[in-house]
Amino acid sequence: MSSLHPDLEKILIPSDQIRTRVQALGQEISKDYQGRVPILLGVLKGCLVFMSDLLRSITAECSVDFICLSSYSGDRSSGVVRMILDLKESIEGKDVLIVEDIVDTGLTLAYLRDNLRTRQPRSLEICTLLDKSDCRKVSLSVKYVGFKVPNQFLVGYGLDYNEQYRNLPYVGILKRVLN
Ligand code: 5GP
Repeated sequence: MSSLHPDLEKILIPSDQIRTRVQALGQEISKDYQGRVPILLGVLKGCLVFMSDLLRSITAECSVDFICLSSYSGDRSSGVVRMILDLKESIEGKDVLIVEDIVDTGLTLAYLRDNLRTRQPRSLEICTLLDKSDCRKVSLSVKYVGFKVPNQFLVGYGLDYNEQYRNLPYVGILKRVLN
């Protein structure tokens, strides 16, 4: 059992629950993509811990690429999505699975989905570790969800607050977020 970081109010999802759920997601994805070679497209930087665990739980053949988007500053979405790093390879005719840490309003992924669709992938699906589905501002179809979470600002397991806390092995709630 990991100890609670002093800046956190509580642990929302302990590391053993994350491990079990990520393994189950990996099995489901492996089954769904059997005989295909999907590109797992990680959205940096938040996806990094989830991606590395998910990848190791997928038994189907697959490749990995990354994209870097930015819409958050501190604990607030700026509402404007910027692409900081684009994909290396073409996705035309390929099966693409976006791997994201958390979906909140859905604006970031709606932007990415629309952008990637113009590149004509064979299929395009979304896998997120955490889903704040009550906060959605746009309609978004998310095929694989690790955990539904409440509307609170979460850190750990790759998620940051001003670049801190990504290394925590669990997902937790910050004690206080400046407004
Ligand atoms: P959306 O565009 O869906 O509102 O926001 C998606 C992005 O916002 C995520 O990729 C993540 O970077 C950030 N985000 C949303 N909610 C949280 C949260 O509770 N904690 C952290 N650390 N980032 C969040």
